[in-house]
Amino acid sequence: MSSDSRYDVIIIGGGLGGLAAATCLARAGHSVVVFEKGNYPAHKVCGEYVSLESWCFLRDLGMRLEEMDLPQIDRFRLTAPDGRAFDTRLPLGGFGISRFALDAGLAACARGAGATVVEGARVEDVSFDGRFRVSVEIRGAGRREFEAAACCGAWGKRSNVDLRWNRAFLQRQDRRLDNFIGVKYHLSTPWPQHTIGLHNFQGGYCGISRVEAGRSSVCYLARAEALRACGGKLARLEREVLCRNPHLARIFDDAEAAEPFPLTISQITFQTKAPVEQGVLLLGDAAGMISPLCGNGMSIALHCGKLAAAEISAFLQGKQGRAAMEAAYAGAWRHQFAARLARGRLLQRFFGGQRATNAFVRLFCAFPALARPVIRSTHGEIF
Ligand SMILES: Cc1cc2nc3c(=O)[nH]c(=O)nc-3n(C[C@H](O)[C@H](O)[C@H](O)COP(=O)(O)OP(=O)(O)OC[C@H]3O[C@@H](n4cnc5c(N)ncnc54)[C@H](O)[C@@H]3O)c2cc1C
Repeated sequence: MSSDSRYDVIIIGGGLGGLAAATCLARAGHSVVVFEKGNYPAHKVCGEYVSLESWCFLRDLGMRLEEMDLPQIDRFRLTAPDGRAFDTRLPLGGFGISRFALDAGLAACARGAGATVVEGARVEDVSFDGRFRVSVEIRGAGRREFEAAACCGAWGKRSNVDLRWNRAFLQRQDRRLDNFIGVKYHLSTPWPQHTIGLHNFQGGYCGISRVEAGRSSVCYLARAEALRACGGKLARLEREVLCRNPHLARIFDDAEAAEPFPLTISQITFQTKAPVEQGVLLLGDAAGMISPLCGNGMSIALHCGKLAAAEISAFLQGKQGRAAMEAAYAGAWRHQFAARLARGRLLQRFFGGQRATNAFVRLFCAFPALARPVIRSTHGEIF
C-alpha cells in the first residue's frame, strides 16, 4: 500500500463531528483523512439553530463567526396544534447559521489545520486486523483502499456502513421513535431575528429561526405514514396537517421557497446506539440522535469530535492502549450525552400526540417557571 493511502486516523463522514475531530487531530500533529460522500458547500435537512454551547469551540476551530453577521437567538416561542402560544427567554440561547456555510467553513478549517478532506468519497466497508482497512469509492477515481491506526465513524443518522454492520438499532422497533421524515426550506417569510419558534402539529413539529443573509430556516419532522396518507405529496401534508396550526398556516401562506428546497430525508430514528463499535469511535448522530426538539444535535456532534480527538491523540502518542482509548471515549460519551439523549427520547415520545402537546403548552402558559428546567435539562454546558 502506497504511503498516500496510510494515515494515523481515518474519519468517515465530513459533517460536524467528523470535521471537528479532524481539525483537532491535525493540529495535534497527526495525519488525518476525512472521506465525505457529498461536496461542499451543500444544504442539509437541519433546523440550523446552534446552541451557544458551541460558540467558543467553533471559534477555536477557526470559524470566524463574529464576521458572519449571524442572528443571535435568545427567545423561544412554543405553539400547540390548537394555536395556543407560550413565549419565554432561553437560558443559554444560540445563533442561526446555514449548514451550507457551516459545513463548508469547517471543511476549510480542517484543511487549514493540515487534514486531507476528500469529497465525493463514499466509504463502502471498514474492517480491523490490528489496523483499520477502509474501502472507498471515489468519484472519478474508482475504488481505493486506505489504512490507519484509528478510525472515527461520523456518518450521521443512518448510512450504508450501519446497514453493512447490521447495527442493533436497525432491528429494534418503536412506533414513537422510528420512521420520521425531515423536510427543510429556506423561506423569505418574515420571522423575528432573535426568536426560535417550535410549532407543533398532529404527529410532528416545525422549527423556524433566522440564518445569515436575512433568510428564515424552516424545518419540520413528521411521520412517514402521515405523508403516505397525503399520497406522498408534501404540499398536501403541509396544507392538511401542518397548517391546522394557525401559526404554521401564516408561515406557509406568506412564504416563497428558495432553490433547491424543499429537501427531504426519511427513515429518521431516535433509537439508542453504541458510541464504540468494531473498534470505531462513533461521533454525533452515528452514536445516537437527540430529538430535534432539543435543538442541540449539532453541538453534541461537535463536542463528540473534541472528546474523540483527545482520546485518539493520547492513544497515538502511546499514552494509552487501544482498549483504554475505547473505554475512555465511551465513558466520556455516556457522561456527557446519555442522560440528555434519554430526556430527548422522552420528549419525542410525548410531543406529537395532539392532545398531549396542547396540554403541555397550556401547562407552560399557566406555570411559566416550569419551562426553564425542561429546556436546561436537554442542553449541555459550554465545552
Ligand atoms: C429535522 C431535523 C432538524 C434538526 N434541527 C437541528 C437544530 O436546529 N439544531 C441542532 O443543533 N441540531 C438539529 N438537528 C440535528 C443535527 O442535524 C444533527 O444532530 C447533526 O447534523 C449531526 O452531525 P453529524 O456530524 O453527526 O452528522 P452529519 O452532519 O449528518 O454528517 C454526516 C456526514 O457523513 C457523510 N456520510 C454518510 N455516509 C457516508 C459514507 N459511507 N462515506 C462518506 N461519507 C458519508 C454524509 O454525507 C454527511 O455529510 C436536526 C435534525 C433533523 C433531522
